[in-house]
Amino acid sequence: MRENAKLYNSAAWKQRRAAERSKHPICARCLIEGRVEQATHIDHVFPHRRNDNRFHQNLFQGLCTSCHTLKTNAETKGVIQHWTQNGLKEYVESDYGFVLLNQPAEK
Ligand SMILES: [Zn+2]
Repeated sequence: MRENAKLYNSAAWKQRRAAERSKHPICARCLIEGRVEQATHIDHVFPHRRNDNRFHQNLFQGLCTSCHTLKTNAETKGVIQHWTQNGLKEYVESDYGFVLLNQPAEK
């Protein structure tokens, strides 16, 4: 838990979170279902499990509290859900490297 707090309290994360919040102000899952709901969580698409690398190098999506809970529940069954402009994409943990390598570079 302390390690988690260290990651979430880091200056790098605060900066990243602010940037991601402005990119993803609306819950991605609600949007696909035709609802406009404010995103309250900046979700790490691939669970970081306190791994420093995964914490900072990840895909991010904005989710409301209930959608974030649904996503977290799916993760316990090994399904990683990413709601994109092209609909829902489902990954498994081992897709991490492949998916991150194929992301357009971000500033
Ligand atoms: Zn939602």
